[in-house]
Amino acid sequence: MGELQFQNTLSGRKEPFVPLHAGEVKMYTCGPTVYDFAHIGNFRTFVFQDVLRRFLHQRGFHVRQVMNLTDVDDRIIQNAPAAGLGIREYTDRYIKAFLEDMNLLNLEMPETLARATDHIEDMVNLVATLLDRGYAYRSDGSIYYRIARFPQYGQLSKVNFSGIQAGARVDVDRYEKDDARDFALWKEHKPGEHFWETRIGPGRPGWHIECSAMALKYLGPTLDIHTGGVDLVFPHHENEIAQSEAATGEPFVRYWLHAEHLFVNGEKMSKSVGNFYTLRDLFARGHRPSAIRFLLASVPYRRQLNFTFDGLQQAASSVERLRNFVDRLKKEHLPESTNTPFAARIEEAGRRFEAGLEDDLNTAQALAAVFDLVREVNTAMDHGEFAAADAPAALAFLARFDEIFAVLSGDDFEKLRAAGLAPAEAELTDEEIEARIAERKQARQRRDFQAADRIRQELAERGILLEDLKDGTVRWKRT
Ligand code: AMP
Ligand code: ZN
Repeated sequence: MGELQFQNTLSGRKEPFVPLHAGEVKMYTCGPTVYDFAHIGNFRTFVFQDVLRRFLHQRGFHVRQVMNLTDVDDRIIQNAPAAGLGIREYTDRYIKAFLEDMNLLNLEMPETLARATDHIEDMVNLVATLLDRGYAYRSDGSIYYRIARFPQYGQLSKVNFSGIQAGARVDVDRYEKDDARDFALWKEHKPGEHFWETRIGPGRPGWHIECSAMALKYLGPTLDIHTGGVDLVFPHHENEIAQSEAATGEPFVRYWLHAEHLFVNGEKMSKSVGNFYTLRDLFARGHRPSAIRFLLASVPYRRQLNFTFDGLQQAASSVERLRNFVDRLKKEHLPESTNTPFAARIEEAGRRFEAGLEDDLNTAQALAAVFDLVREVNTAMDHGEFAAADAPAALAFLARFDEIFAVLSGDDFEKLRAAGLAPAEAELTDEEIEARIAERKQARQRRDFQAADRIRQELAERGILLEDLKDGTVRWKRT
């Protein structure tokens, strides 16, 4: 095994990964703001974090991951009353949906899932510490962070904010670099708005203080890894550093890892642009969780990913190919030869796979190692040249792949059905059915009977029965 390297946003370089305490990784992940369903752009970042977590785990690290759920921020404070709900009830349903989506995408549950509104007291204590230490001040009923007091401000986003006008303030949670000002830690209570009565006064927390408070509480002053999408570098993560380091006097995070965005037609997928799909949108169109997960994981996280339905279709075929390959290895009658030229080849694929992931989670390289091997072994099997003795090693390699990519096991359709999210069964058109039957015919012609059976099975699940006639044609009917 080689050395693990991560691109650290803080240093701007790829660095060997060495956690503070050997064998243990403390990791904080900015979770969703639960004011709506998460879109697949959000899930690009969550899948990256899951791949990271699984890889660290596979490498033998004990991972302690905290993910927050932002259930109070500007948008929630606005939307909840508009929906006639308290903020807790309003966010409950999106938390429930998020957990369902996580489960469908095979995202592992972090050790700690922390809801912001369950940690108001921790935030109040942190704000009080910042007031005591002179990093925060009161103005008009709110409390602000004085960025001039923290000269390192800008180190993560690589912007020099030293010329900034002292005392200018910004009240919104989300803003751009040109709007860098003293930001709100605690927001004054406005009539009609949800608020908490606390020892620093009535009001509600700003967004940034939530993550500092929960990270420090569960992981201590110094984390090994902090992750999020690139849009969080400024101001959210810059502010997290300023708050946390001012309070503890210790370095807050050793490795900052940021995922590039998912794009649609050259634009970042986002709620405000309206160019987004939720997982549910894609399920309703007949797409499967494994294909979506594969697509999101297949592009290395530091590269932008352009979403297209063609790409999603290709991801589905890739998953299908791997599943068929595993089936074939398990079921096909392979020659009992003692000549096993593939043993070394499988080992080499394993090394390439590892080397890809070690290099800042280069999933594309890791996948190339898998698919090259699959192609070669499939060809060898076609020619009766793959020995039964090599099958266990190949299967073990695929199992190792799936510990990270998590797309091979389980019946997607069953999972969707159990969650009540399966698409309407009668949705297949006659043309779609004919196309699937043609694919099945091709599979049979190349003697890939597993693939053929799988298509029959899939169609059966969707209420289409096939009957093979003596003349080689197929009759079908809807049940
Ligand atoms: P939010 O719910 O807005 O706080 O975002 C949750 C996570 O999704 C954060 O880590 C964001 O950086 C990330 N995110 C938002 N939009 C995208 C996108 N288009 N592509 C990838 N990640 C995104
Ligand atoms: Zn955060």
